[in-house]
Amino acid sequence: MAWRSSGATNAELITNLQQNGLITSDRVKTAMLKVTYQPSSHPTTPLPTLPPYQLTPKPKVDRAHFAPRSPYNDNPQPIGHSATISAPHMHASACETLLTYLQPGARVLDIGSGSGYLTAVLAHLVSPGGSVVGIEHIQPLNDMATANFRKSESGREMLESGCVRFVTGDGRKGWGESAPYDAIHVGAAAAEFHEMLTEQLKGPGRLFVPVEEGGRQHIYVIDKREDGTLERKKMYGVQYVPLTDAPK
Ligand code: SAH
Repeated sequence: MAWRSSGATNAELITNLQQNGLITSDRVKTAMLKVTYQPSSHPTTPLPTLPPYQLTPKPKVDRAHFAPRSPYNDNPQPIGHSATISAPHMHASACETLLTYLQPGARVLDIGSGSGYLTAVLAHLVSPGGSVVGIEHIQPLNDMATANFRKSESGREMLESGCVRFVTGDGRKGWGESAPYDAIHVGAAAAEFHEMLTEQLKGPGRLFVPVEEGGRQHIYVIDKREDGTLERKKMYGVQYVPLTDAPK
């Protein structure tokens, strides 16, 4: 199913993901779309009739700012340092799974933020008023994510307003300084269920994490209820790079 969603443009990729049932929410679709239309500065020029997302004055997220090549293919891609930018359908699935907890004003932790692409989509979903911390253990990848954000006006604004922040550290310990979080996304496969991550969730809150067990990886969704109890659901098989110690 993955390859069938590839497109020639960002809009085509996102439309194909929706047509193949990999994006079902309009909020996720809008956050993943690049918006190219800018309202005219000439008051006499009538505005064309366009779907509402195209009338948003500021561009949103273009995957070409984050993926080094073939940005509109529905595949993961190497970004250096043994890391990959995940496939668009996995980014879509993560957002759809966490969506209830990604309301404007929500706080999010994106572990293994890599290219910064998903951090950007998450930030659009929790805007206005929300914030996303991207944690990565390889400093040059954080530098790359910051440079990727600087390629768009909305990205620069997100960094300058503090709505998005990239920090360097071991994501297996979460990022206690900005906890608790409404949603935590883990973009690399964990060798165990790291308790510090569920401790840093709000109740209610949700953790999306690939976990490796017996040579296979599965996505787990862990919900923390209001009373602090946890509910764990095993979702589907995946293939992520592992969550590891930082390279020496
Ligand atoms: N969401 C990213 C995925 C990048 S791949 C994207 O789509 O671009 C997984 C990332 O996890 C890599 O960048 C890797 O460096 C990072 N990573 C692995 N172990 C980590 C750890 N212990 N702490 C923080 N980041 C880690």
